[in-house]
Amino acid sequence: MSIQREQLEGDVLIIGAGPAGLSCALHLAKLIKKHNASGAKPELSAESIYVLEKGREIGAHQLSGAIMNPNALAELVPDFEKSAPLDTPVTDSAALLFTKNSSLRFPITPPPFQNKGNYVVSLSRITKWLGGLVEATGVNVFKEFGGAELIYEGDGVAGVITEDKGVDKNGKPKDNFTPGYELRAKVTVLAEGTRGSLTKKLVAAKKLDNINPQSYGIGVKELWDVQPGRIQPGYVAHTLGWPVSTDMYGGGWIYGLSNNRVSVGLVLALEYADPQFDPHAAFQTWKTHPFLKKILEGGKLVRYGAKSLPYGGWYAMPRTYVDGGLIIGDSGSFLDSQRLKGIHLAMKSGMLAADTIFEALKSGDTSSKTLSAFPQRVEQSYIKKELWQVRNFHQSFQHGMLRGFVHTAFQQITGGRGLIDPMRAHAGHEAYKKINGRPAPERFKGDGKLTFDRLTDVYHSGTRHEEDQPCHLHVADTNICSTKCVIALSNY
Ligand SMILES: Cc1cc2nc3c(=O)[nH]c(=O)nc-3n(C[C@H](O)[C@H](O)[C@H](O)COP(=O)(O)OP(=O)(O)OC[C@H]3O[C@@H](n4cnc5c(N)ncnc54)[C@H](O)[C@@H]3O)c2cc1C
Repeated sequence: MSIQREQLEGDVLIIGAGPAGLSCALHLAKLIKKHNASGAKPELSAESIYVLEKGREIGAHQLSGAIMNPNALAELVPDFEKSAPLDTPVTDSAALLFTKNSSLRFPITPPPFQNKGNYVVSLSRITKWLGGLVEATGVNVFKEFGGAELIYEGDGVAGVITEDKGVDKNGKPKDNFTPGYELRAKVTVLAEGTRGSLTKKLVAAKKLDNINPQSYGIGVKELWDVQPGRIQPGYVAHTLGWPVSTDMYGGGWIYGLSNNRVSVGLVLALEYADPQFDPHAAFQTWKTHPFLKKILEGGKLVRYGAKSLPYGGWYAMPRTYVDGGLIIGDSGSFLDSQRLKGIHLAMKSGMLAADTIFEALKSGDTSSKTLSAFPQRVEQSYIKKELWQVRNFHQSFQHGMLRGFVHTAFQQITGGRGLIDPMRAHAGHEAYKKINGRPAPERFKGDGKLTFDRLTDVYHSGTRHEEDQPCHLHVADTNICSTKCVIALSNY
């Protein structure tokens, strides 16, 4: 059955209202305002920019408690300190080495762990605030609208079809069925975050992959209200060692926010050998370390979240432009995995995309010839400078922490080149080893005070969805369950 869809046509369509998409929209709207005020032709309109966000509100899909390098925000909103919800400046940056029962602070904090001049923020509050600025310029932000399919035209893209609403879990229309919109634009910007559903289709369809496949990490985190005096606002610590074994890549963080709030989390590369390894359980175990116990005991869990992040860096960055389309932020691999920072790079990539789109709209040429100016702008910006220094960083750890540290030492003194450049990476899932009939471990239960089972944590994630709606998670190869995972599954 062919579905009649309402059509809407604009100049620019941005998919995703995270730091990248919102910075793109805001910067472009400001450029347009200045352009129109100068009387230059053609007249452009901020109202012809559409932003789609699948979350129920801006910021709903952001994890709170992050450290933000404010350099891009200072360019985007020069007086940001007056109104941005910054929470607190970083006052102390520590690097800690954990063994099971003890911790050792590095006497000198290594540069990647230095956070002087940065802010501890709630990213969800920052994006909400940015969203307000974007809407005030006249840009249309559509919340609870997920881009479901790309509209391809020629060698590029011409817009998206949004999700149909009112569909049951089997994909059948219900009484309240409303077909998705067909949104067309001269330029479609993919700012979906890590492993965006449309981005991955576009990258595959147009063969935009770089020399390395993207690799991913997962961050599992909790936000706690703790007893007064347990942590100073602005205290930032990164932990190495226990419980992360030396054949894995990962570490923890402890960020002190204002009002006795603390963000704690463990981030792990999704390329471990044991398919039964459980990052959530590892995070809960990490919280039982005496250093964390001292901070958290007597406190209360406020919020939980888990999210993936792209670790691949420069050599995993896809081609970021096609006819009528750009890829920015985490979707385009703009993340510094050594510093665990992507907010400022996402923002800056959004602004450089806006500069490129502005020129394209003025000239009336939105083909890849004009849009290829985007990666050139990236090359000349501090994005390249930062990501080039760490271009071989994550790959170095694909063979364990110890070898990773040796490579990193050489990279540090050779501006990122190291012993092998470019260092190739393998896709994370290729690291899995067969479990050979080993029974699945028992699920982590937690004590309900300091540690929690997964269900309790998910309850604290604020996730809400209808029972009778299509599932967004699809197993791409369903045979895998009978041919490869059958032993693991039958033990659950
Ligand atoms: C655990 C963890 C800790 C981190 N800590 C830090 C830190 O301390 N400092 C730092 O600088 N960086 C940190 N990062 C990285 C940082 O969060 C990201 O680099 C940054 O948020 C990327 O911004 P983005 O706009 O590209 O993507 P996102 O922030 O992921 O935003 C993408 C948005 O697009 C929406 N969306 C996705 N697909 C669609 C679709 N098809 N249709 C409509 N909407 C869609 C999503 O709902 C989301 O709102 C961390 C990441 C993780 C996972």
